[in-house]
Amino acid sequence: MAILEVDELKQYFYIMPGLLAKVVSKKQPSIIKAVDGLTFNLEAGEIMGLAGESGCGKSTACLAISKLREPTGGTIRFKGQDISKMTREENREYRSKVQLIFQDPYESLNPRFTVFDTVAEPLRALDIGTREERRQRVMDSLRLAGLKPEEYVDRYPHQMSGGERQRVGIASALVLEPELVIADEPVSMLDVSIRAGILDLIRGLSEKMNFTCIWVSHDLSILSNVSERLMIMYLGRTMELAPTKDLITDPLHPYSKALISAVAIPDPTYKRPIPNIRGEVSQPIDPPPGCRFQTRCKEVMHVCEMEEPPLIEAKPGHFVACHLYKAQSDY
Ligand code: SF4
Repeated sequence: MAILEVDELKQYFYIMPGLLAKVVSKKQPSIIKAVDGLTFNLEAGEIMGLAGESGCGKSTACLAISKLREPTGGTIRFKGQDISKMTREENREYRSKVQLIFQDPYESLNPRFTVFDTVAEPLRALDIGTREERRQRVMDSLRLAGLKPEEYVDRYPHQMSGGERQRVGIASALVLEPELVIADEPVSMLDVSIRAGILDLIRGLSEKMNFTCIWVSHDLSILSNVSERLMIMYLGRTMELAPTKDLITDPLHPYSKALISAVAIPDPTYKRPIPNIRGEVSQPIDPPPGCRFQTRCKEVMHVCEMEEPPLIEAKPGHFVACHLYKAQSDY
């Protein structure tokens, strides 16, 4: 059963021209299409990886899903209900069921809060439990995150390492027993030596607590280890969506192929394929018609400049947005 259905999600930002440019050259506002027609479903209990270069709209999409930003268009349904049409009480419930784990454990914790204050804050904000019940939930949550509650509960952020801070962030996200966790680059700011521990922790907790997870990262080697399905984004749109193993071993989209060819392989004899890509990352400001990837694709055709490729199912469960492929139903 789909716990989350995202349909044609759009998040635009408008850049207004300066007064002089507006009056003299009649310049119109530019539109940054950070997310532009994102569509996917998330099955209950799965971990879906969301990959793409910086600025492709991954984090913006997650902010819209977690209701921290009002989307420009499209619909998001949580367990069948449109989240833009929720009542006050349903909103409160949604905020407790959908939680974020942030990228930066140094910035995401309030330096004036003890660990107890930080982890108890979501309970306080939603007015859940008595003082004693909150304390018990905080202690349980810290234990789940791999910290000894008695040792850490009175500490301040500056008294902990980056890995310990991230565990506090995880405890804070889990104290409300969420059904959907959005982990936005949860290990990218950590030392390599402690990344594996945090990866194993989140993956293990998703099984133990049975929450669904969107794991955002630009690092495909991490996502290939933690996710069951993988979605590749480029300039606000889905380029490819497939079971992770299928996408990593048999990528279809030229952009996915380039990303996968850049993954570090710990084997000096491995001959890395030359990425079939050119140029720099394009900007999402007033993108041209047709395929978003056309300026970097070496296989670009005339149709790519005219028509935006739809996301089609090229193989069972394997979706791609590229004119090089036909939907399997068309064969
Ligand atoms: Fe390249 Fe055309 Fe496919 Fe876009 S649609 S990725 S430009 S071949």
